Amino acid sequence: MSTDSTNTLGRAVPQTVGWISSDVDECWEPTPAASTAPQTDGASMDVDIACVGFGPAMGGFLTTLTQAWTESRTDPVFESKVMPGMPLQILCYERADDLAAGVSGVVTRARGIRATLPNLKAEEIPMAAEVKHERVLYLLDPTGASRRSRPLRITDFLLRLGRGLWLKDDAFQLPWTPGFLRKENGLVLSIGQFNQWVASQLMANGLVQIWPGTPVKGPLFANRTVVGVRLADQGVDKKGVPADGYMPGMDVHARLTVVGDGPVGAVGGAIDERLGMPEDHARRDWALGMKFVIELPPDESNPDSLDKESLARDGVIAPNRIETSPLQPGTVWHTFGYPEPEIFGFLYVHPDRLVSVGIFVPSWMGDPARTCYRYLQHFIQHPALWRYLKNGRLRSWGAKSLEESGRRGEPFLTGNGYARIGEGSGSTNMLTGSGVDEAWTTGTQLAEAVIELLHNGKPFTHQNLTNSYVARRRDSWVESAARDAEDARNGFHGGIVRGLIGMALAGLTGGKLHLKPRLLPTHKQIRHAHAAIESIERKKAAELVLEDGRPFHDALLSARGWPEIPFDGRLLVTQQDALLMGGKVQAMPGFADHVTFRDLRLCAACDEKTCIAMCSGQAITLGAGNLPVFEREKCVHCGGCLWNCAKSADGAHNNLEFKAGVGGLHSAEN
Ligand SMILES: Cc1cc2nc3c(=O)[nH]c(=O)nc-3n(C[C@H](O)[C@H](O)[C@H](O)COP(=O)(O)OP(=O)(O)OC[C@H]3O[C@@H](n4cnc5c(N)ncnc54)[C@H](O)[C@@H]3O)c2cc1C
Ligand code: SF4
Ligand code: SF4
Repeated sequence: MSTDSTNTLGRAVPQTVGWISSDVDECWEPTPAASTAPQTDGASMDVDIACVGFGPAMGGFLTTLTQAWTESRTDPVFESKVMPGMPLQILCYERADDLAAGVSGVVTRARGIRATLPNLKAEEIPMAAEVKHERVLYLLDPTGASRRSRPLRITDFLLRLGRGLWLKDDAFQLPWTPGFLRKENGLVLSIGQFNQWVASQLMANGLVQIWPGTPVKGPLFANRTVVGVRLADQGVDKKGVPADGYMPGMDVHARLTVVGDGPVGAVGGAIDERLGMPEDHARRDWALGMKFVIELPPDESNPDSLDKESLARDGVIAPNRIETSPLQPGTVWHTFGYPEPEIFGFLYVHPDRLVSVGIFVPSWMGDPARTCYRYLQHFIQHPALWRYLKNGRLRSWGAKSLEESGRRGEPFLTGNGYARIGEGSGSTNMLTGSGVDEAWTTGTQLAEAVIELLHNGKPFTHQNLTNSYVARRRDSWVESAARDAEDARNGFHGGIVRGLIGMALAGLTGGKLHLKPRLLPTHKQIRHAHAAIESIERKKAAELVLEDGRPFHDALLSARGWPEIPFDGRLLVTQQDALLMGGKVQAMPGFADHVTFRDLRLCAACDEKTCIAMCSGQAITLGAGNLPVFEREKCVHCGGCLWNCAKSADGAHNNLEFKAGVGGLHSAEN
């Protein structure tokens, strides 16, 4: 660690002044900068590679890099340039308090993961199973409350004519699973367990350091070069003002900064703010994924387990006595149509009678009452799922945003001193419904590129990283699949039927045919209440709020005819109780609020309050003066509020800011 003002390589370097550039020589190469920044009274340190975020993308990067390094530990290319004589100094900072804090299904083809880990066996990873059966179900509305268009109602009516034939439990199983969705030979995983497993392998070889509970505040720029990162200040009040035990965030100067901070990461966001996005690229497609991990009831307590005929038909009967639940590990269901037509869902079966079941609420669902938790409770009660899940027990839950723009949201993948990997780099593929394997693979591609540059003694400049990393990415299956998917979701912004047609067109023609895009900024995707029926519903909802003090968005669903949730204290529990199940929501003291409201006047005048309706942890509530109030202690870091704000002061930024922060939800089973 160095706190003096000289560069460890003895070069003339620019002053690093946080996010503001100072004069630099244009020929200057990304090398560790001196810690002479006037704004930084904290410590600084020089490393070779600083990594931001530990998700599947970083797992792929660090695993591939350390595999090569382990094979030739004494190779001088793996010697540090910032600490000559020492091995490469690679540090990875993860915001969450532990490394198993991810939230995701997951079903994955695991093509990239298996390429890195050819001997991988599902049995080695807790909660992992080989994919066995895949089904796609169209779910009809058994409650009558779902907002369905006329064409959809007609479709439902026709399907209901075949009750008992092609319709069972108000669900229609597609005769086949489209190729683009299939995950045969893949894996069902818990992302928390997978991340933890990968981290434990990395820690075991001791070549890299991974620091959980360490949010990175933002990138350090010298002109347009990223020269490292600054960690978040500690010992500050909610507004970031120094308080007792103040410790300014350390500056970590790095030859290369690897940004794998996921869909809502502050570091990637700051780079985009500073360097802009490629022409025609923007992040306008989002979804909030929320899921439960449910322990299925034992066979004998589940009467459906006796229904051998339907179980055999569904391919979900246990072939032997080891599994006591009728749902076999490796079973994968994709659903659409319910609780709202715009909401897609999933059910994945892990070993030991555990299932992950969840939904995705997309940004293009115009309704401002996007209350994901309540919708998820209605989803699991759909007869097609409930027959298996009833009498189950909620083990944990989680929520996280997905950046669904894919290639169209791809930022500049490299620049002087930095490279982007994973979902924040636009790798998630929403045609195939797959993000983990893509994120992992972009990480492995960068690692291969870094090894190549180290071998050739080349610095991590924009050009060198483009020629090595970007070239690999463009040449890979990640890129070709992303191109097929690029326009697959265009139709959804014009409604679900249009969207499904567009997706089928693109999916079945490899992206050659697709509908025209009509993508609005996220705040414009939120519809304003206008119809007379909506004002009646809103009045009814306001009365319900007064009656029992429940949140308005929850009351709005009741006012629209959604049945009340029959809480049972086991599986159907309140949102607040769920926060305490299977894990915990943490907020270390001494950090600033990471959710802030830019212009409170806009908030006061905002009728939609979508930030409140969508908040996964009920961390944003309505306070005095019609203003939203944020409580850091309840925030699960889903990032939903980032894109669920109905207003913008400048047309470009939403009225809510989402910054780096610690804490969040902790459940090793998610
Ligand atoms: C409910 C749900 C279901 C899903 N189902 C599937 C599925 O079935 N199949 C599939 O393939 N994909 C699925 N996905 C998508 C998949 O989870 C993502 O594509 C994948 O996790 C992306 O990996 P990543 O490494 O790029 O980012 P992430 O997994 O988001 O990891 C980024 C990490 O960076 C950390 N970070 C962020 N900011 C900072 C900071 N400032 N400082 C330090 N650390 C920071 C975060 O805490 C996080 O741990 C699902 C997602 C959700 C939410
Ligand atoms: S942040 Fe303010 S403007 Fe945005 S949705 Fe919430 S209340 Fe409305
Ligand atoms: S405040 Fe926290 S829990 Fe609520 S939407 Fe934002 S990130 Fe999610």
